[in-house]
Amino acid sequence: MLIIFDLDDTLIDTSGSITPIKLERALQKMVEAGFQTVSFKESLELLKRLDELASNGGKALAEFVEMHDADPSFYEIGIKELYDNICFDAPIFSVDQAVETLSDLRISHQLALVTIGNPTQQYEKMKKAGIDSTMFSKIVITEEKNKKIYYQAIVAELGVIPTDVLVCGDKIEVDLSPAKELGFKTVHMCFGRGKNSLGLKEDVDYTITRLSQIKELI
Ligand SMILES: [Mg+2]
Repeated sequence: MLIIFDLDDTLIDTSGSITPIKLERALQKMVEAGFQTVSFKESLELLKRLDELASNGGKALAEFVEMHDADPSFYEIGIKELYDNICFDAPIFSVDQAVETLSDLRISHQLALVTIGNPTQQYEKMKKAGIDSTMFSKIVITEEKNKKIYYQAIVAELGVIPTDVLVCGDKIEVDLSPAKELGFKTVHMCFGRGKNSLGLKEDVDYTITRLSQIKELI
């Protein structure tokens, strides 16, 4: 079987180890540029609460700026820090048992990775989280938010039939619905952002809360 993974909040604990620090730095940059807060701590708490309910950090930031009736330029400053700043000195963790699970799976299955983001950042995150990129037969890192064309390309290149493909990700709309359209099986990693993932429940064949549970499905 070919198993295609998403990276953020599927193999890496992005919500736990990256997002909180990124949000704080984004707010810091906004304050430095003149964004008014009564209390930095309280504003950060609010931003983190909005982020927990949002499908991505950018949406939380947009809502935060709008709630404060602040100039949209603050959003631009925040978003730049959130996504473009590659320098990241804090530790990054994989999800529980990620390395062990991938090592076990690769014995009998082919593994691939399709992730949305900046290639330098995504490779750096993997490295810091201890995920060996050579475990994957194919890696696609794209800034384009359409995974379907990449799923198609990987399957064609590796010569796998759709019923032999399993896709595992935390976002139903982004990771799983395109897979379902191609006739693949899907596993929803209900973790981090995935806990409030929007999307069609019909596009989910299995739901797991810990990555290691994927082994029981195959
Ligand atoms: Mg993800």
